[in-house]
Amino acid sequence: MTPDEFRRAGHAVVDWIADYWATLERRPVTSQDPPGTVAARLPAGPPEHGEPVEAVLADLDTLITPELTHWQHPGFFGYFPANTSGPSVLGDLVSAGLGVQGMLWATGPACTELETVLLDWLADLLDLPKRFRSGTAGGGVIQDSASSATLVATLVALHRAGGGRWREVGIDRRYRAYASTQGHSSIEKAARIAGLGAEGVRPVEVDPRTQAMSPAALRAAIEADVAAGVVPAIVVATVGTTSTTAIDPLPEIGAICAEYGIFLHVDAAYAGAAAVCPELRFGHAGLEYADSYCFDPHKWLLTGFDCDAFWVADTAELIEALSVLPEYLRNAATESGAVIDYRDWQVPLGRRFRALKLWFVLRWYGAEGLRAHIRSGVALAARFADRVRADDRFTLVGAHPYALVCFRLEADDEVNAELLARVNATGRVHLTHTRVNGRYTLRLAVGSPHTTEVHVDEAWTLLTDAANALLPH
Ligand SMILES: *Cc1c(COP(=O)(O)O)cnc(C)c1O
Repeated sequence: MTPDEFRRAGHAVVDWIADYWATLERRPVTSQDPPGTVAARLPAGPPEHGEPVEAVLADLDTLITPELTHWQHPGFFGYFPANTSGPSVLGDLVSAGLGVQGMLWATGPACTELETVLLDWLADLLDLPKRFRSGTAGGGVIQDSASSATLVATLVALHRAGGGRWREVGIDRRYRAYASTQGHSSIEKAARIAGLGAEGVRPVEVDPRTQAMSPAALRAAIEADVAAGVVPAIVVATVGTTSTTAIDPLPEIGAICAEYGIFLHVDAAYAGAAAVCPELRFGHAGLEYADSYCFDPHKWLLTGFDCDAFWVADTAELIEALSVLPEYLRNAATESGAVIDYRDWQVPLGRRFRALKLWFVLRWYGAEGLRAHIRSGVALAARFADRVRADDRFTLVGAHPYALVCFRLEADDEVNAELLARVNATGRVHLTHTRVNGRYTLRLAVGSPHTTEVHVDEAWTLLTDAANALLPH
């Protein structure tokens, strides 16, 4: 493809994306077709002769988009949002076009330095502790996901708990990670990858009213392990759990970690973005105890997947844990000690220029645009929660500190599951569910920049219509 052919096809692709966004609202949020539908319609192999991009675009319309879950749809209220935006797509396009490998400072100096500066910008925007800024012992990096951030934190924690010997000898004793029963599944996955096994994660009880980690239960678990000769390596606390956006109490948890010298990682994958608004920083109280912290701009901050912002308070420890320097990567800049080589801050060697999409987003929206986006989601969720609160047949389940509302019908779990199925089958909205204290609970997470009061009100109308049909009068 010559540059001129690319220019022509590229314009067509950008037009296609713009049309997709402009027509999203008219599409069903999810496909109702059975598994195998897409695969059965695809040819058995690739074409022998090359085809124009227009042929692929036509197939996108007939084969692909009808069989998608449309995450950017204004009626998408499932899981957590996975925002994208025009500036994010454009920044990603530039990154793809540059095709830079940013594994070392020397392999793309601007790729490294822009990332370092943007992570400082973000730390300022969220008012994170000073010790996460570059120019201190700490610093930030973009990981592909919060799961990778937890894995990296776990590896550094093991390095520390093993007295700096982990990188040489691996696991030489029994180590343990701690997270609440509401902690994300990536904590167990990280422990398994790190060689601790699933049993290497001790689930800590939560307060049943708040779903937040009980500091007393954490202390008891640590004390029992220490008495049994197990080494506590890491506590993963969550600000905004995936199930209900519960907030683990960092001041108490942090004090326990400090007392026992345990690495504290704070996972704010979803809720961290809210801290761009000063009035939504309550979850970060006690964050000064954290050895590492992450949140996902790719969830609620208008930046397309993948973009997890991860900070550590001690970069030396991180680099010592992960750095391997083969001869073919040696270079003068690295040896000078004056540069950051981000390959040492992550699991893979290679890395693409992810900072570009974040840069495009931060510059297009500005801090006030980001705050407006978050505030709109929080206000829409509050509007929906008011509807739930005002209807005797429904109950709000727990608080809604951010833009996720958990609720259920005052009826059996099966009725609630049927309610969810009926509402989703309309194709107008998509909600998901969880269990809270064992009870089937519906979740409505606002977050698409296209969602307005009209869409939240429509979700409520669909829910009440379905409830009318389901409940005996
Ligand atoms: C979504 C989520 C994750 C996983 O995020 P990825 O970036 O997809 O790995 C981890 N922790 C919490 C609390 C989450 O909500």
